[in-house]
Amino acid sequence: FNVPEPKNEPVKNYAPGSEERASLQNALKTARDQEVDIPMYIGSEEVKTGNTTTIHPPHDRAHKIGQFHSGDKEHVTQAINAALGAKQAWENMHWEQRAAIFLKIADLLAGPYRDKINAATMLGQSKNAFQAEIDAACELIDFLRFNVKFMTEIYAQQPPISGDGVWNRLEQRPLEGFVFAITPFNFTAIAGNLPTAPAMMGNTVVWKPAETQIYSARVLMEVFKEAGLPDGVINLIYVNGPDAGDVVFSHPDFAGLHFTGSTGVFQSLWKIIGNNISKYKTYPRIVGETGGKDFVIAHKSADPKAVATALSRGAFEFQGQKCSAASRAYIPSNLWGSVKEHLLADLASMKMGGTEDFGNFINAVIDEKAFDKISAYIEDAKTATNVEILAGGNCDKTKGFFIEPTVIVVQDPMYKTMVEEIFGPVLTLYIYQEDHFEEALELVDQSSPYALTGAIFSKDRYAIELATTKLRHAAGNFYINDKPTGAVVGQQPFGGSRASGTNDKAGSMINLLRWVSPRTIKETF
Ligand code: NAD
Repeated sequence: FNVPEPKNEPVKNYAPGSEERASLQNALKTARDQEVDIPMYIGSEEVKTGNTTTIHPPHDRAHKIGQFHSGDKEHVTQAINAALGAKQAWENMHWEQRAAIFLKIADLLAGPYRDKINAATMLGQSKNAFQAEIDAACELIDFLRFNVKFMTEIYAQQPPISGDGVWNRLEQRPLEGFVFAITPFNFTAIAGNLPTAPAMMGNTVVWKPAETQIYSARVLMEVFKEAGLPDGVINLIYVNGPDAGDVVFSHPDFAGLHFTGSTGVFQSLWKIIGNNISKYKTYPRIVGETGGKDFVIAHKSADPKAVATALSRGAFEFQGQKCSAASRAYIPSNLWGSVKEHLLADLASMKMGGTEDFGNFINAVIDEKAFDKISAYIEDAKTATNVEILAGGNCDKTKGFFIEPTVIVVQDPMYKTMVEEIFGPVLTLYIYQEDHFEEALELVDQSSPYALTGAIFSKDRYAIELATTKLRHAAGNFYINDKPTGAVVGQQPFGGSRASGTNDKAGSMINLLRWVSPRTIKETF
Protein backbone atom coordinates (compact mmCIF):
# COMPACT_ATOMS: atom_id res chain seq x y z
CA PHE A 1 0.00 0.00 0.00
CA ASN A 2 2.56 2.47 -1.17
CA VAL A 3 0.95 5.88 -1.79
CA PRO A 4 2.58 9.30 -1.47
CA GLU A 5 2.61 10.42 2.18
CA PRO A 6 0.07 13.28 2.34
CA LYS A 7 1.00 16.71 3.67
CA ASN A 8 -1.27 19.71 4.03
CA GLU A 9 -1.17 21.88 0.93
CA PRO A 10 0.69 25.13 1.80
CA VAL A 11 -1.60 28.18 1.79
CA LYS A 12 -0.64 31.01 -0.58
CA ASN A 13 -1.15 34.45 0.93
CA TYR A 14 -1.49 36.53 -2.26
CA ALA A 15 0.55 39.38 -0.76
CA PRO A 16 0.34 42.77 -2.51
CA GLY A 17 2.83 42.94 -5.38
CA SER A 18 3.39 39.16 -5.46
CA GLU A 19 3.37 37.10 -8.64
CA GLU A 20 0.70 34.84 -7.20
CA ARG A 21 -1.61 37.79 -6.64
CA ALA A 22 -1.09 39.05 -10.20
CA SER A 23 -1.82 35.59 -11.56
CA LEU A 24 -5.04 35.23 -9.54
CA GLN A 25 -6.13 38.73 -10.54
CA ASN A 26 -5.66 37.77 -14.18
CA ALA A 27 -7.79 34.66 -13.73
CA LEU A 28 -10.47 36.74 -12.03
CA LYS A 29 -10.49 39.22 -14.88
CA THR A 30 -10.75 36.46 -17.47
CA ALA A 31 -13.63 34.89 -15.56
CA ARG A 32 -15.43 38.24 -15.21
CA ASP A 33 -15.06 39.01 -18.91
CA GLN A 34 -16.24 35.63 -20.18
CA GLU A 35 -19.77 34.33 -19.97
CA VAL A 36 -19.81 30.58 -19.49
CA ASP A 37 -22.63 28.37 -20.70
CA ILE A 38 -22.75 25.50 -18.21
CA PRO A 39 -24.11 22.08 -19.19
CA MET A 40 -25.06 19.16 -16.97
CA TYR A 41 -22.61 16.25 -17.19
CA ILE A 42 -24.40 12.93 -17.58
CA GLY A 43 -22.30 9.94 -18.62
CA SER A 44 -20.28 11.06 -21.64
CA GLU A 45 -22.81 13.80 -22.53
CA GLU A 46 -22.70 17.51 -21.85
CA VAL A 47 -26.41 18.24 -21.68
CA LYS A 48 -27.83 21.67 -22.56
CA THR A 49 -31.58 21.81 -22.14
CA GLY A 50 -32.16 25.45 -23.08
CA ASN A 51 -33.87 25.96 -19.72
CA THR A 52 -31.27 28.42 -18.44
CA THR A 53 -30.66 30.46 -15.30
CA THR A 54 -28.31 33.44 -15.30
CA ILE A 55 -25.46 33.57 -12.78
CA HIS A 56 -24.34 36.86 -11.20
CA PRO A 57 -21.65 37.46 -8.57
CA PRO A 58 -23.52 37.91 -5.25
CA HIS A 59 -21.58 41.18 -4.76
CA ASP A 60 -22.37 42.53 -8.24
CA ARG A 61 -25.93 41.68 -9.21
CA ALA A 62 -25.86 43.56 -12.51
CA HIS A 63 -22.90 41.62 -13.91
CA LYS A 64 -23.47 38.34 -15.72
CA ILE A 65 -20.81 35.63 -15.48
CA GLY A 66 -22.70 32.81 -17.10
CA GLN A 67 -25.75 30.64 -17.21
CA PHE A 68 -26.53 27.02 -16.44
CA HIS A 69 -28.96 24.58 -18.03
CA SER A 70 -31.46 22.96 -15.66
CA GLY A 71 -32.88 19.51 -16.12
CA ASP A 72 -35.98 17.66 -14.98
CA LYS A 73 -36.85 14.24 -13.57
CA GLU A 74 -35.92 12.57 -16.87
CA HIS A 75 -32.35 13.87 -16.47
CA VAL A 76 -32.19 12.43 -12.97
CA THR A 77 -33.13 9.03 -14.38
CA GLN A 78 -30.49 9.42 -17.09
CA ALA A 79 -27.85 10.31 -14.49
CA ILE A 80 -28.77 7.27 -12.37
CA ASN A 81 -28.56 5.04 -15.46
CA ALA A 82 -25.17 6.53 -16.35
CA ALA A 83 -23.93 5.89 -12.80
CA LEU A 84 -25.21 2.29 -12.82
CA GLY A 85 -23.77 1.73 -16.31
CA ALA A 86 -20.31 2.87 -15.23
CA LYS A 87 -20.36 0.91 -11.98
CA GLN A 88 -19.02 -2.50 -12.97
CA ALA A 89 -15.91 -1.28 -14.75
CA TRP A 90 -15.20 1.30 -12.04
CA GLU A 91 -15.49 -1.08 -9.11
CA ASN A 92 -13.38 -3.66 -10.93
CA MET A 93 -10.62 -1.15 -11.64
CA HIS A 94 -7.58 -1.78 -9.43
CA TRP A 95 -7.64 0.58 -6.44
CA GLU A 96 -4.25 2.00 -7.45
CA GLN A 97 -5.67 3.14 -10.76
CA ARG A 98 -8.55 4.83 -8.97
CA ALA A 99 -6.18 6.41 -6.45
CA ALA A 100 -4.03 7.76 -9.27
CA ILE A 101 -6.99 9.62 -10.75
CA PHE A 102 -7.76 11.38 -7.44
CA LEU A 103 -4.10 12.21 -6.83
CA LYS A 104 -4.01 13.67 -10.34
CA ILE A 105 -7.13 15.76 -9.58
CA ALA A 106 -5.34 17.10 -6.47
CA ASP A 107 -2.25 17.96 -8.51
CA LEU A 108 -4.29 19.74 -11.18
CA LEU A 109 -6.01 21.80 -8.48
CA ALA A 110 -2.70 22.58 -6.78
CA GLY A 111 -1.11 23.65 -10.08
CA PRO A 112 -2.74 24.61 -13.37
CA TYR A 113 -6.33 24.91 -12.08
CA ARG A 114 -5.63 26.67 -8.79
CA ASP A 115 -6.31 30.19 -10.04
CA LYS A 116 -9.34 29.08 -12.01
CA ILE A 117 -11.07 27.29 -9.12
CA ASN A 118 -10.21 30.13 -6.71
CA ALA A 119 -11.47 32.77 -9.17
CA ALA A 120 -14.69 30.82 -9.72
CA THR A 121 -15.25 30.59 -5.94
CA MET A 122 -14.47 34.31 -5.49
CA LEU A 123 -16.91 35.36 -8.21
CA GLY A 124 -19.66 32.79 -7.84
CA GLN A 125 -19.77 32.51 -4.03
CA SER A 126 -18.32 35.93 -3.08
CA LYS A 127 -15.35 34.58 -1.10
CA ASN A 128 -12.28 36.78 -0.71
CA ALA A 129 -8.96 35.48 -2.08
CA PHE A 130 -7.76 34.02 1.20
CA GLN A 131 -11.08 32.33 2.00
CA ALA A 132 -11.20 30.87 -1.52
CA GLU A 133 -7.60 29.64 -1.23
CA ILE A 134 -8.15 27.77 2.05
CA ASP A 135 -11.35 26.23 0.69
CA ALA A 136 -11.33 25.55 -3.05
CA ALA A 137 -7.58 24.94 -3.27
CA CYS A 138 -6.06 23.75 0.02
CA GLU A 139 -8.93 21.97 1.74
CA LEU A 140 -10.07 20.15 -1.36
CA ILE A 141 -6.53 19.10 -2.26
CA ASP A 142 -6.10 17.84 1.30
CA PHE A 143 -9.38 15.91 1.19
CA LEU A 144 -8.22 14.11 -1.96
CA ARG A 145 -4.67 13.30 -0.84
CA PHE A 146 -5.55 12.27 2.71
CA ASN A 147 -8.55 10.23 1.56
CA VAL A 148 -6.29 8.24 -0.77
CA LYS A 149 -4.09 7.47 2.22
CA PHE A 150 -7.10 6.50 4.39
CA MET A 151 -8.37 4.30 1.57
CA THR A 152 -5.19 2.23 1.71
CA GLU A 153 -5.51 1.91 5.47
CA ILE A 154 -9.06 0.60 5.04
CA TYR A 155 -7.95 -1.93 2.45
CA ALA A 156 -5.16 -3.02 4.80
CA GLN A 157 -7.61 -3.93 7.61
CA GLN A 158 -7.75 -7.72 7.74
CA PRO A 159 -8.87 -10.29 10.32
CA PRO A 160 -5.85 -11.01 12.55
CA ILE A 161 -6.23 -14.78 12.68
CA SER A 162 -6.25 -17.46 9.99
CA GLY A 163 -5.93 -21.04 11.29
CA ASP A 164 -4.03 -23.96 9.73
CA GLY A 165 -5.23 -24.56 6.18
CA VAL A 166 -7.49 -21.53 6.35
CA TRP A 167 -7.19 -18.01 4.94
CA ASN A 168 -9.63 -15.43 6.40
CA ARG A 169 -9.89 -12.15 4.60
CA LEU A 170 -12.03 -9.03 4.28
CA GLU A 171 -12.97 -7.61 0.92
CA GLN A 172 -13.94 -3.94 1.02
CA ARG A 173 -16.67 -3.88 -1.60
CA PRO A 174 -18.27 -0.63 -2.74
CA LEU A 175 -22.01 -0.28 -2.04
CA GLU A 176 -24.42 -2.08 -4.32
CA GLY A 177 -26.13 0.64 -6.35
CA PHE A 178 -25.37 4.36 -6.71
CA VAL A 179 -24.64 7.16 -4.24
CA PHE A 180 -26.46 10.51 -4.27
CA ALA A 181 -24.32 13.52 -3.28
CA ILE A 182 -26.18 16.71 -2.35
CA THR A 183 -23.86 19.62 -1.67
CA PRO A 184 -24.18 23.12 -0.14
CA PHE A 185 -23.08 26.49 -1.51
CA ASN A 186 -20.65 27.47 1.17
CA PHE A 187 -17.56 25.33 0.54
CA THR A 188 -16.23 24.35 -2.87
CA ALA A 189 -14.14 21.78 -0.96
CA ILE A 190 -17.25 20.11 0.44
CA ALA A 191 -18.85 20.14 -3.00
CA GLY A 192 -15.74 18.36 -4.30
CA ASN A 193 -15.37 15.95 -1.39
CA LEU A 194 -18.93 14.65 -1.24
CA PRO A 195 -18.93 12.99 -4.68
CA THR A 196 -15.21 12.05 -4.74
CA ALA A 197 -15.03 10.25 -1.36
CA PRO A 198 -17.60 7.57 -2.30
CA ALA A 199 -16.22 7.42 -5.86
CA MET A 200 -12.73 6.72 -4.56
CA MET A 201 -14.06 3.63 -2.77
CA GLY A 202 -15.45 2.26 -6.05
CA ASN A 203 -18.94 3.78 -6.07
CA THR A 204 -20.56 5.79 -8.85
CA VAL A 205 -22.37 8.98 -8.03
CA VAL A 206 -25.17 11.34 -8.98
CA TRP A 207 -24.16 14.81 -7.76
CA LYS A 208 -26.62 17.66 -7.20
CA PRO A 209 -24.91 20.88 -6.08
CA ALA A 210 -26.60 23.97 -4.63
CA GLU A 211 -27.73 26.28 -7.44
CA THR A 212 -25.48 29.01 -6.05
CA GLN A 213 -22.35 26.84 -6.36
CA ILE A 214 -22.82 25.57 -9.92
CA TYR A 215 -20.37 28.15 -11.24
CA SER A 216 -17.42 26.56 -9.40
CA ALA A 217 -18.87 23.00 -9.55
CA ARG A 218 -18.43 23.00 -13.30
CA VAL A 219 -14.71 23.81 -12.93
CA LEU A 220 -14.37 20.77 -10.67
CA MET A 221 -16.07 18.66 -13.31
CA GLU A 222 -13.57 19.90 -15.91
CA VAL A 223 -10.73 18.88 -13.60
CA PHE A 224 -12.26 15.44 -12.96
CA LYS A 225 -12.47 14.87 -16.71
CA GLU A 226 -8.96 16.10 -17.38
CA ALA A 227 -7.58 13.76 -14.70
CA GLY A 228 -9.15 10.83 -16.52
CA LEU A 229 -12.20 10.09 -14.37
CA PRO A 230 -14.23 7.73 -16.56
CA ASP A 231 -17.58 8.95 -17.88
CA GLY A 232 -20.52 8.14 -15.62
CA VAL A 233 -18.53 7.81 -12.38
CA ILE A 234 -19.65 11.27 -11.24
CA ASN A 235 -22.69 12.77 -12.96
CA LEU A 236 -23.45 16.43 -12.29
CA ILE A 237 -27.09 17.50 -12.57
CA TYR A 238 -28.97 20.73 -11.89
CA VAL A 239 -32.46 19.67 -10.98
CA ASN A 240 -34.45 21.20 -8.14
CA GLY A 241 -34.07 19.29 -4.87
CA PRO A 242 -37.59 17.84 -4.49
CA ASP A 243 -37.71 16.62 -8.13
CA ALA A 244 -34.28 15.03 -7.86
CA GLY A 245 -35.26 13.48 -4.52
CA ASP A 246 -38.51 12.05 -5.94
CA VAL A 247 -36.61 10.04 -8.55
CA VAL A 248 -33.55 9.09 -6.50
CA PHE A 249 -35.30 8.08 -3.29
CA SER A 250 -37.79 5.82 -5.02
CA HIS A 251 -35.11 3.98 -7.01
CA PRO A 252 -34.32 0.39 -5.92
CA ASP A 253 -30.58 0.91 -6.52
CA PHE A 254 -30.30 3.95 -4.25
CA ALA A 255 -27.48 2.87 -1.92
CA GLY A 256 -26.26 5.98 -0.10
CA LEU A 257 -26.78 9.68 0.56
CA HIS A 258 -23.79 11.96 1.11
CA PHE A 259 -25.35 15.24 2.19
CA THR A 260 -24.19 18.57 3.56
CA GLY A 261 -26.70 21.36 4.07
CA SER A 262 -29.36 22.49 6.48
CA THR A 263 -30.85 20.36 9.25
CA GLY A 264 -34.42 20.84 7.98
CA VAL A 265 -33.66 19.54 4.50
CA PHE A 266 -31.65 16.57 5.82
CA GLN A 267 -34.41 15.54 8.22
CA SER A 268 -37.01 15.73 5.45
CA LEU A 269 -34.84 13.53 3.20
CA TRP A 270 -34.31 10.99 5.97
CA LYS A 271 -38.10 10.73 6.38
CA ILE A 272 -38.59 10.14 2.64
CA ILE A 273 -35.88 7.46 2.68
CA GLY A 274 -37.51 5.88 5.75
CA ASN A 275 -40.88 5.76 4.01
CA ASN A 276 -39.30 4.05 0.99
CA ILE A 277 -37.06 1.68 2.92
CA SER A 278 -38.66 -1.53 1.67
CA LYS A 279 -38.10 -0.49 -1.97
CA TYR A 280 -34.31 -0.63 -1.80
CA LYS A 281 -32.11 -3.62 -2.54
CA THR A 282 -29.86 -2.67 0.36
CA TYR A 283 -30.18 -0.41 3.42
CA PRO A 284 -28.81 2.92 2.21
CA ARG A 285 -25.94 4.63 4.01
CA ILE A 286 -27.07 8.05 5.23
CA VAL A 287 -24.32 10.53 5.94
CA GLY A 288 -25.26 14.14 6.61
CA GLU A 289 -23.44 17.15 7.99
CA THR A 290 -26.02 19.78 8.85
CA GLY A 291 -26.63 23.07 10.69
CA GLY A 292 -24.89 24.65 13.64
CA LYS A 293 -25.15 27.33 16.31
CA ASP A 294 -21.52 27.39 17.25
CA PHE A 295 -20.37 28.89 20.51
CA VAL A 296 -17.49 30.63 22.20
CA ILE A 297 -17.45 30.68 25.99
CA ALA A 298 -14.84 32.65 27.89
CA HIS A 299 -13.87 31.98 31.49
CA LYS A 300 -13.01 34.93 33.74
CA SER A 301 -9.31 33.98 33.45
CA ALA A 302 -9.24 34.24 29.63
CA ASP A 303 -7.13 36.63 27.57
CA PRO A 304 -9.70 39.23 26.35
CA LYS A 305 -7.79 40.07 23.17
CA ALA A 306 -7.62 36.40 22.16
CA VAL A 307 -11.36 36.10 22.80
CA ALA A 308 -12.10 39.18 20.67
CA THR A 309 -9.93 37.91 17.80
CA ALA A 310 -11.66 34.53 17.89
CA LEU A 311 -15.01 36.30 17.73
CA SER A 312 -14.21 38.69 14.90
CA ARG A 313 -12.49 36.04 12.78
CA GLY A 314 -14.70 33.13 13.82
CA ALA A 315 -17.96 35.00 13.30
CA PHE A 316 -17.30 37.10 10.22
CA GLU A 317 -14.92 35.28 7.85
CA PHE A 318 -16.92 34.49 4.70
CA GLN A 319 -19.75 36.59 6.12
CA GLY A 320 -20.48 34.02 8.82
CA GLN A 321 -21.61 31.49 6.22
CA LYS A 322 -19.50 28.67 7.63
CA CYS A 323 -21.26 25.86 9.40
CA SER A 324 -18.55 26.27 12.06
CA ALA A 325 -18.92 30.06 12.43
CA ALA A 326 -19.04 31.46 15.97
CA SER A 327 -22.55 32.83 16.25
CA ARG A 328 -23.19 32.94 20.01
CA ALA A 329 -20.77 33.88 22.76
CA TYR A 330 -20.86 33.88 26.55
CA ILE A 331 -18.58 36.52 28.03
CA PRO A 332 -17.90 36.96 31.76
CA SER A 333 -18.71 40.40 33.16
CA ASN A 334 -15.11 41.08 34.30
CA LEU A 335 -13.78 40.75 30.72
CA TRP A 336 -16.59 42.45 28.84
CA GLY A 337 -15.14 46.01 28.73
CA SER A 338 -11.87 44.81 27.29
CA VAL A 339 -13.36 42.22 24.88
CA LYS A 340 -15.72 44.92 23.58
CA GLU A 341 -12.89 47.38 22.96
CA HIS A 342 -10.81 44.84 20.99
CA LEU A 343 -13.83 43.54 19.09
CA LEU A 344 -14.92 47.01 17.96
CA ALA A 345 -11.35 47.80 16.89
CA ASP A 346 -11.23 44.58 14.81
CA LEU A 347 -14.58 45.39 13.19
CA ALA A 348 -13.48 48.91 12.33
CA SER A 349 -10.61 47.44 10.29
CA MET A 350 -12.84 45.14 8.20
CA LYS A 351 -13.54 46.62 4.78
CA MET A 352 -16.63 45.45 2.90
CA GLY A 353 -17.07 45.17 -0.87
CA GLY A 354 -16.52 42.97 -3.93
CA THR A 355 -13.96 40.17 -4.05
CA GLU A 356 -12.09 41.82 -6.95
CA ASP A 357 -10.56 44.26 -4.43
CA PHE A 358 -8.27 42.04 -2.32
CA GLY A 359 -8.46 44.53 0.55
CA ASN A 360 -12.09 43.66 1.27
CA PHE A 361 -12.45 41.25 4.18
CA ILE A 362 -16.26 41.17 4.08
CA ASN A 363 -18.03 40.36 0.83
CA ALA A 364 -21.66 39.67 -0.02
CA VAL A 365 -23.94 36.95 1.36
CA ILE A 366 -24.86 34.29 -1.13
CA ASP A 367 -28.27 35.32 -2.50
CA GLU A 368 -31.44 37.30 -1.97
CA LYS A 369 -33.14 34.59 0.08
CA ALA A 370 -30.20 34.54 2.52
CA PHE A 371 -30.06 38.36 2.55
CA ASP A 372 -33.77 38.63 3.40
CA LYS A 373 -33.56 36.00 6.12
CA ILE A 374 -30.49 37.52 7.79
CA SER A 375 -31.72 41.11 7.55
CA ALA A 376 -35.09 40.10 9.05
CA TYR A 377 -33.26 38.87 12.18
CA ILE A 378 -31.33 42.15 12.34
CA GLU A 379 -34.46 44.30 11.87
CA ASP A 380 -36.26 42.38 14.63
CA ALA A 381 -33.31 42.86 16.96
CA LYS A 382 -33.42 46.64 16.34
CA THR A 383 -36.87 46.90 17.91
CA ALA A 384 -36.75 44.09 20.50
CA THR A 385 -36.58 45.04 24.17
CA ASN A 386 -33.37 44.42 26.11
CA VAL A 387 -31.50 43.80 22.86
CA GLU A 388 -28.69 46.11 21.76
CA ILE A 389 -27.09 46.32 18.33
CA LEU A 390 -23.50 46.99 19.35
CA ALA A 391 -22.04 47.19 15.84
CA GLY A 392 -23.18 46.96 12.22
CA GLY A 393 -26.86 46.44 11.48
CA ASN A 394 -26.96 47.97 7.99
CA CYS A 395 -28.10 45.83 5.07
CA ASP A 396 -28.16 46.94 1.44
CA LYS A 397 -28.94 44.81 -1.60
CA THR A 398 -28.80 47.52 -4.26
CA LYS A 399 -25.49 46.48 -5.84
CA GLY A 400 -24.92 43.16 -4.11
CA PHE A 401 -26.17 41.33 -1.03
CA PHE A 402 -24.18 43.28 1.55
CA ILE A 403 -24.76 42.94 5.27
CA GLU A 404 -22.46 44.65 7.75
CA PRO A 405 -20.83 42.46 10.37
CA THR A 406 -23.37 42.80 13.14
CA VAL A 407 -22.89 42.28 16.87
CA ILE A 408 -25.97 41.95 19.06
CA VAL A 409 -25.89 41.96 22.87
CA VAL A 410 -28.81 40.32 24.67
CA GLN A 411 -30.00 40.08 28.24
CA ASP A 412 -32.08 36.99 27.55
CA PRO A 413 -29.79 34.06 26.61
CA MET A 414 -32.74 32.40 24.85
CA TYR A 415 -33.41 35.36 22.52
CA LYS A 416 -33.78 33.99 19.01
CA THR A 417 -30.48 35.27 17.52
CA MET A 418 -28.75 33.47 20.39
CA VAL A 419 -30.31 30.07 19.66
CA GLU A 420 -31.38 29.84 15.99
CA GLU A 421 -29.01 29.27 13.04
CA ILE A 422 -28.93 32.52 11.02
CA PHE A 423 -26.04 31.63 8.69
CA GLY A 424 -24.80 35.16 8.13
CA PRO A 425 -22.55 37.84 9.64
CA VAL A 426 -24.44 38.10 12.93
CA LEU A 427 -22.83 37.41 16.30
CA THR A 428 -24.89 37.47 19.50
CA LEU A 429 -23.31 37.94 22.91
CA TYR A 430 -24.60 37.23 26.38
CA ILE A 431 -22.71 38.70 29.31
CA TYR A 432 -22.84 36.44 32.36
CA GLN A 433 -21.87 37.16 35.96
CA GLU A 434 -18.20 36.17 36.12
CA ASP A 435 -18.71 33.75 39.03
CA HIS A 436 -21.51 31.87 37.31
CA PHE A 437 -19.34 29.90 34.93
CA GLU A 438 -21.08 26.56 35.57
CA GLU A 439 -24.50 28.07 34.84
CA ALA A 440 -23.09 29.54 31.63
CA LEU A 441 -21.81 26.09 30.62
CA GLU A 442 -25.28 24.72 31.27
CA LEU A 443 -26.75 27.36 28.95
CA VAL A 444 -24.23 26.56 26.21
CA ASP A 445 -25.15 22.90 26.43
CA GLN A 446 -28.92 23.18 26.74
CA SER A 447 -30.02 26.22 24.75
CA SER A 448 -29.40 24.94 21.24
CA PRO A 449 -30.27 21.66 19.49
CA TYR A 450 -27.00 21.78 17.52
CA ALA A 451 -23.58 20.37 18.37
CA LEU A 452 -21.11 21.23 15.63
CA THR A 453 -18.24 23.42 16.88
CA GLY A 454 -17.46 25.34 20.03
CA ALA A 455 -14.59 26.96 21.90
CA ILE A 456 -13.57 27.61 25.49
CA PHE A 457 -11.12 30.37 26.35
CA SER A 458 -9.44 30.09 29.73
CA LYS A 459 -6.06 30.20 31.43
CA ASP A 460 -7.45 28.16 34.32
CA ARG A 461 -6.85 24.45 33.82
CA TYR A 462 -9.72 23.50 36.14
CA ALA A 463 -12.16 25.61 34.08
CA ILE A 464 -10.90 23.98 30.87
CA GLU A 465 -11.41 20.55 32.39
CA LEU A 466 -14.89 21.44 33.62
CA ALA A 467 -15.94 22.83 30.22
CA THR A 468 -14.47 19.86 28.35
CA THR A 469 -16.44 17.45 30.52
CA LYS A 470 -19.74 19.35 30.76
CA LEU A 471 -19.77 20.14 27.04
CA ARG A 472 -18.84 16.60 25.95
CA HIS A 473 -21.86 16.35 23.63
CA ALA A 474 -22.23 20.05 22.77
CA ALA A 475 -19.71 20.07 19.90
CA GLY A 476 -18.18 17.54 17.48
CA ASN A 477 -15.18 19.88 17.11
CA PHE A 478 -14.11 21.47 20.40
CA TYR A 479 -11.40 24.12 20.58
CA ILE A 480 -9.44 25.17 23.64
CA ASN A 481 -8.12 28.73 23.34
CA ASP A 482 -8.75 28.97 19.60
CA LYS A 483 -11.58 30.04 17.29
CA PRO A 484 -14.12 27.36 16.35
CA THR A 485 -13.52 27.60 12.58
CA GLY A 486 -10.70 26.47 10.31
CA ALA A 487 -10.50 22.69 10.81
CA VAL A 488 -7.65 21.25 8.76
CA VAL A 489 -7.92 17.86 7.01
CA GLY A 490 -5.59 15.31 8.56
CA GLN A 491 -5.41 17.40 11.76
CA GLN A 492 -8.94 18.06 13.05
CA PRO A 493 -11.44 15.62 11.45
CA PHE A 494 -14.66 17.60 11.07
CA GLY A 495 -18.29 16.92 11.96
CA GLY A 496 -20.99 17.40 14.55
CA SER A 497 -23.65 15.42 16.36
CA ARG A 498 -27.16 16.18 17.75
CA ALA A 499 -28.98 18.25 15.05
CA SER A 500 -25.65 19.01 13.36
CA GLY A 501 -25.16 15.70 11.61
CA THR A 502 -24.32 12.04 11.67
CA ASN A 503 -20.74 12.97 12.66
CA ASP A 504 -18.97 10.80 10.13
CA LYS A 505 -15.99 13.19 10.19
CA ALA A 506 -15.31 14.56 6.72
CA GLY A 507 -11.80 13.85 5.49
CA SER A 508 -11.25 10.83 7.71
CA MET A 509 -11.30 7.05 7.59
CA ILE A 510 -14.62 7.14 9.45
CA ASN A 511 -16.25 8.83 6.46
CA LEU A 512 -14.66 6.56 3.86
CA LEU A 513 -15.77 3.47 5.77
CA ARG A 514 -19.38 4.48 5.11
CA TRP A 515 -18.87 3.93 1.38
CA VAL A 516 -17.89 0.28 1.58
CA SER A 517 -19.80 -2.83 2.52
CA PRO A 518 -17.22 -5.44 3.53
CA ARG A 519 -17.44 -9.09 2.56
CA THR A 520 -15.77 -11.66 4.81
CA ILE A 521 -14.23 -14.56 2.93
CA LYS A 522 -13.06 -17.79 4.57
CA GLU A 523 -11.14 -20.10 2.29
CA THR A 524 -10.24 -23.61 3.40
CA PHE A 525 -7.37 -25.31 1.63
P1 NAD B 1 -29.59 23.85 2.03
O1 NAD B 1 -30.07 22.82 2.98
O2 NAD B 1 -30.49 24.94 1.65
O3 NAD B 1 -29.17 23.13 0.67
C1 NAD B 1 -28.24 22.05 0.67
C2 NAD B 1 -28.48 21.23 -0.57
O4 NAD B 1 -29.74 20.56 -0.44
C3 NAD B 1 -28.55 22.05 -1.86
O5 NAD B 1 -27.92 21.34 -2.91
C4 NAD B 1 -30.04 22.14 -2.09
O6 NAD B 1 -30.38 22.37 -3.43
C5 NAD B 1 -30.48 20.75 -1.64
N1 NAD B 1 -31.90 20.62 -1.34
C6 NAD B 1 -32.72 21.54 -0.80
N2 NAD B 1 -33.97 21.02 -0.66
C7 NAD B 1 -33.90 19.74 -1.14
C8 NAD B 1 -34.85 18.69 -1.27
N3 NAD B 1 -36.10 18.83 -0.86
N4 NAD B 1 -34.44 17.51 -1.81
C9 NAD B 1 -33.14 17.33 -2.20
N5 NAD B 1 -32.21 18.31 -2.10
C10 NAD B 1 -32.59 19.49 -1.58
O7 NAD B 1 -28.20 24.40 2.60
P2 NAD B 1 -27.24 25.54 2.02
O8 NAD B 1 -27.92 26.86 2.19
O9 NAD B 1 -26.70 25.20 0.69
O10 NAD B 1 -26.02 25.43 3.04
C11 NAD B 1 -26.07 25.99 4.30
C12 NAD B 1 -26.39 24.96 5.37
O11 NAD B 1 -25.44 23.91 5.30
C13 NAD B 1 -26.29 25.52 6.77
O12 NAD B 1 -27.34 25.00 7.55
C14 NAD B 1 -24.94 24.99 7.27
O13 NAD B 1 -24.83 24.89 8.66
C15 NAD B 1 -24.90 23.66 6.59
N6 NAD B 1 -23.52 23.18 6.47
C16 NAD B 1 -23.11 22.22 7.35
C17 NAD B 1 -21.81 21.75 7.30
C18 NAD B 1 -21.32 20.71 8.27
O14 NAD B 1 -20.23 20.18 8.07
N7 NAD B 1 -22.09 20.38 9.30
C19 NAD B 1 -20.92 22.25 6.34
C20 NAD B 1 -21.38 23.21 5.45
C21 NAD B 1 -22.69 23.67 5.52
